[in-house]
Amino acid sequence: MTRFPLPSKDTPVTAQIIDGKAIAARIRQELAAQVETYVASGGSRPHLAAVLVGDDPASAVYVRNKERACQQAGMLSTLHRLPASTTQEELLTLVQQLNSDASVHGILVQLPLPKHIHETSILDAVTPLKDVDCFHPENVGLMVQGRPRFLPCTPHGCQELLAACGAKVDGAHAVVLGRSEIVGKPMAALLVQKGDVANATVTIAHSRTRNLAEITRQADILIAAIGKPNFVTADMIKPGAVVIDVGINRLNDQLVGDVDYPAAIDIASAITPVPGGVGPMTIAMLLKNTLRAARLQDNVD
Ligand code: NDP
Repeated sequence: MTRFPLPSKDTPVTAQIIDGKAIAARIRQELAAQVETYVASGGSRPHLAAVLVGDDPASAVYVRNKERACQQAGMLSTLHRLPASTTQEELLTLVQQLNSDASVHGILVQLPLPKHIHETSILDAVTPLKDVDCFHPENVGLMVQGRPRFLPCTPHGCQELLAACGAKVDGAHAVVLGRSEIVGKPMAALLVQKGDVANATVTIAHSRTRNLAEITRQADILIAAIGKPNFVTADMIKPGAVVIDVGINRLNDQLVGDVDYPAAIDIASAITPVPGGVGPMTIAMLLKNTLRAARLQDNVD
């Protein structure tokens, strides 16, 4: 964990910087060892099939990073690249093929999909046992009920960061800014569970929330996932809060989070940087789910 230089007497305490890149690297190393042990004991080598439709440059970079991470962890990865003109039926056919291909353990459909394709129909078509993103309603339901098959990658990555920085989550007030299916809702669902790095009192805030700053200022743990650059200002943060910034926004050719980081480090007790915070953890959790998917399909778990 990196730290800023110790503050002088008259400057405020500077937050612990939660180094997601280093934490994710450690987890990926552990996973690589687990993969080799699993394969040596006769298990299948985990295989992730990624589907990329169209030529969105950011999506292409994300998929390439995921593929590379798979390979570095000793897993197999296959990329299915389809043109932006692909029809919904063609994409559904590919998903069905991957569902029934016994050599594929995890299926990842990179979002967003082109506008003419109904995203939910595609995600629902992925067989739950290969749904390593944990988007399928069956897996979301199991997760909400506290008996997860897979854990959602970005929210679980945030949980791992909270654990790594020693945040006391049990009994804390966690405020989740954002209610998307990918981040906000599953994040809140994980934090409210009975269990480790959970047992929080959770508030979910969104664009219709009144008196937002009043609510965020009550947060012992603040998770920002709204997609608005530097939206969370220092006056919205309780002194000593742990701040997890999920946002990835491009501002003047730079990547910035949803939190005004330079201001927030003087008020939070710990904070994730952007880049290098939550992003690398999402990929590490995807790898974790892919190993689990292989075990599930080998009938080991
Ligand atoms: P969505 O756009 O799907 O959701 C944004 C949420 O923020 C919505 O619930 C919206 O409310 C809420 N919101 C928007 N504006 C405001 C506002 N002014 N005040 C309060 N709430 C607001 O985004 P995602 O959840 O998919 O992603 C959020 C951010 O996280 C993005 O920057 C994205 O790039 C990043 N991200 C990062 C990942 C990583 O690996 N680090 C992974 C996934 C996402 P409402 O529902 O009312 O519209």
